[in-house]
Amino acid sequence: MELTSQEINAADAPHWAWTNKLLIDGRPFELEGRKYQLEIMRYVTDDGKVKTNEVIKKGSQTGATIGKSIEIAHGAVHGYYPQGIIYFFPSKTAVEEFSGGRFKPLLKDNELLRSVCNDVNSVYTRRIAKTNVSFHGCSGTTIIGGMAKDSMQVRSTPADWILLDERDMFDDEMAAQVNQRLGNSTIRRRSDMGTPKLPDDGIDRLYGKSDMRRWQIKCDSCRKYTHLATEFPQCIRIADGKGFPVCIHCGRDIDRGNGLWVPDYPDRPTVGYWCSQLLNPNRPLDQAVYEYDDPPKYDTTEAEVQRTILGKAFARAEDILRETEVYQCCTMDNMAYSHDGPCAMGFDVGYPLIHVIIGHKITHDRYRIVRMARVKDWSALHDLAKRYNVKSTVGDAMPESHKIREWANSEAQYGNTVYPCYVQHHLKTFDNWGSDNIVKVNMTDIFDESHQMVVNPGRMLIPRDCEEVKIFAHQMCQRAKFLETDNRGGISYHYKKIGDKQDHYRNALNFFYLACKKVGIPESKNRKRATTQDMSYSLKREQRI
Ligand SMILES: [Zn+2]
Repeated sequence: MELTSQEINAADAPHWAWTNKLLIDGRPFELEGRKYQLEIMRYVTDDGKVKTNEVIKKGSQTGATIGKSIEIAHGAVHGYYPQGIIYFFPSKTAVEEFSGGRFKPLLKDNELLRSVCNDVNSVYTRRIAKTNVSFHGCSGTTIIGGMAKDSMQVRSTPADWILLDERDMFDDEMAAQVNQRLGNSTIRRRSDMGTPKLPDDGIDRLYGKSDMRRWQIKCDSCRKYTHLATEFPQCIRIADGKGFPVCIHCGRDIDRGNGLWVPDYPDRPTVGYWCSQLLNPNRPLDQAVYEYDDPPKYDTTEAEVQRTILGKAFARAEDILRETEVYQCCTMDNMAYSHDGPCAMGFDVGYPLIHVIIGHKITHDRYRIVRMARVKDWSALHDLAKRYNVKSTVGDAMPESHKIREWANSEAQYGNTVYPCYVQHHLKTFDNWGSDNIVKVNMTDIFDESHQMVVNPGRMLIPRDCEEVKIFAHQMCQRAKFLETDNRGGISYHYKKIGDKQDHYRNALNFFYLACKKVGIPESKNRKRATTQDMSYSLKREQRI
């Protein structure tokens, strides 16, 4: 059975936009050179996967957003989402810019849409044919949706499809909460989109868990495939002041339109796209190479080029730790089973386990971790403290302040002084030790310190690579340093949780660093056995004398 053009249009948003010559920014929608956009605008992928969950990691000017606008209009006109469509942005300003600045012209410029929408000018909710299409801004823990008095109503508006744009700017809790809108839906469709900021965070993390589709361009000469953003800039040939995409295998010219979305992990249910600016036929590729090569000359930065042109996450080395850097602190030693001490201990209470770091100073400013562990309760924590002869312990005072005080009292009889710690944003000094054994520490400073312990060779020695060290390495990297501007225009640095937010060992190490301030250096001869590192170190010291 042949499908009529009308039937194809009903099923397919890009085809519908193309045959109706929908005006986008004043120009008719074109398929020419934009083949990569087609699958992104469809509910089902070309290889037959239904997009219940969809992730689009994108640079700027990729056409992905306008593609979604067309898909929304198409879905509304054809009644595919009867309970409605809600498009979320991280702020009210972003809603106004998008809904008023981009979506409204789409409705206004096209009779086909204008004729089925009476409230074209309404920014927050429009009715297109029989479908409500809403735009909401999420900020903090409140959803801004027009007037405050109907916020309850807005909160309970159901939907069959929700979209989140500028995903990295969303509060995590908020990003999870919006799923409630799909509670009554049998379609339950969700799309997350945005330009990535930090590696393994926000949209980059979601893409990493998806089937990870990349636009693979086929070479007609050697029949192999090239993915531009992965191979950039080697996949660009510059001639006569113009840039041309070339096959990374044989060097011949390739056609950006001659590609297909190939998933790296076809078995994963979430459909993910990586959409770089290099796919846009209007983007001069030579310019992209020049900006990448010398960002300041083009009034941009390395981070901006990576994020907006390549659609890649980016972090400066000084703002984030990487697991490979943590592994470089590994020695050849297994974890110790016991220690003569005196040792220091730092712990972080992370439900349901307490994360513990035990070790000692080697010199005034060098540290050895002899044990890292996760224990289930305070008595297990005590057993460790005793076995490793811990004399000074610092732990998080916040979540269970009475528990830690209770435990501090009982530890005192074993010669282990416990200091409950408050980590504060605005402390004027690095740390402050009270007579009541309460210690306060500046949050940014202590995270800077543990960052330095990792990146300066030899400053911190940790046991050899094993399962627990793997967890430690991962948790060390779940914080990133951000520059923040407050509402008075003041700027300051903050460490925020990123990735899966499991940063307990990082906190425990911070506390361990503090605990070390209250305990001496173990004498080498008292130790059960000297390790290679200790000997090489004392050799060096003798040479110096
Ligand atoms: Zn080739």
